[in-house]
Amino acid sequence: MSHAAAARLTARNRSGGLSAAGLHTDLMRALQAAGWPVEHESFAENTEYRGYAGPARLLVGRADQAAESRSDACDPDDETRLDLSRPPMVDMAAPLTPTTYEAYSQISGDRPIRDVIAELDRMITDARAHAMAMATNRARCVVCDDAYPQAHLLAAAGDEELLLCPVCAFDGDVLVTSGHATAYLTYQIDQLTATDLATPAGWAGVVALLACAAPPGFDDWLHEQWRHAGTFLSPADYWSHPKQLWVWLPPGDRPAPLHRFGTGARLGALVDALDERWPDLRQRARDTAADNWREAGWSDDEPVPGLFLDQIWPAAVAYAISLRTQATERSAHRPPLQHLFGSFDSLHEHLALIESPLDFDDIESALGVGIETVLDALWPDPAQPPQSAPAQPTATE
Ligand SMILES: [Zn+2]
Repeated sequence: MSHAAAARLTARNRSGGLSAAGLHTDLMRALQAAGWPVEHESFAENTEYRGYAGPARLLVGRADQAAESRSDACDPDDETRLDLSRPPMVDMAAPLTPTTYEAYSQISGDRPIRDVIAELDRMITDARAHAMAMATNRARCVVCDDAYPQAHLLAAAGDEELLLCPVCAFDGDVLVTSGHATAYLTYQIDQLTATDLATPAGWAGVVALLACAAPPGFDDWLHEQWRHAGTFLSPADYWSHPKQLWVWLPPGDRPAPLHRFGTGARLGALVDALDERWPDLRQRARDTAADNWREAGWSDDEPVPGLFLDQIWPAAVAYAISLRTQATERSAHRPPLQHLFGSFDSLHEHLALIESPLDFDDIESALGVGIETVLDALWPDPAQPPQSAPAQPTATE
């Protein structure tokens, strides 16, 4: 018997019904295995267990029964107060802290777990499409002039007058003038992604780069900076655990390593999927980096400087995939990867602010080579543009 099947059996209670606690644990494990970033609580509150998967919140329990009988909240597996032969319910909603639009769905807990995950994925996919359709491009990035919804451009350099898109967040044309710029950028990204399902996919690259370049204890440092700025909110988990970062994936046709995922996945699962499909991919990037140095005139007898940085690799994966997603989702705009390279000059300032131990030139070269290596592997035919819908058949006479 498989471990999962055994877990399902033990999840049955004495009246033969499903245990809410067992279902909650099974569901969170299955989501983790399917590539979602997952966080969950192990205690019940209001007759439900809470969980978080990517941009969604989940509740597993019998709050419906407690509401029907107008009884107080209790343990969702309390047989003295609830009918445990009836299945627990799974409620799902997104985004994490909705300010305007919110998607909601419910599914009975006795359905197979893969159906529950499929419903969660369907809800998020539809909700993102809806949120994107509602967002209008009324503002422009001050560097690339591309049109975005105002809320999707951020004061990445700390100046509210200079709003930037994810591609230009570290562009050297905008000076970082404030010592709080990086901490403020992390705050803006957290607020945007937690409240808006239409968030441009590319912000994942910016998060991954800062998180991968930051020294240990980045979460504590951010916490302190945020407190000083007067907020009692806490920075998201991914700033210290970039593998937990949610990355929106390209809709429509996808290369094989991305087939197994839904509308998005955690960065760690994407990195693993690439390593599994192409175990030599990082070595390819290292070799390209070495060739670049030799071509730039570095002597054949000397080892090349700027060690390829494994630490930055997840950021390269995040940039490559999330900007491909953005190109597909915003197909009427210039593909962002066309103007990403050479847009990292102000990263230097951010690295100094967060006291990164890494060297800017090393990061920039490793990132550039890493992004190109990932793109070449996943989408080897650059002549084929991103498509959000199947190509229309050509009319013939
Ligand atoms: Zn821009």
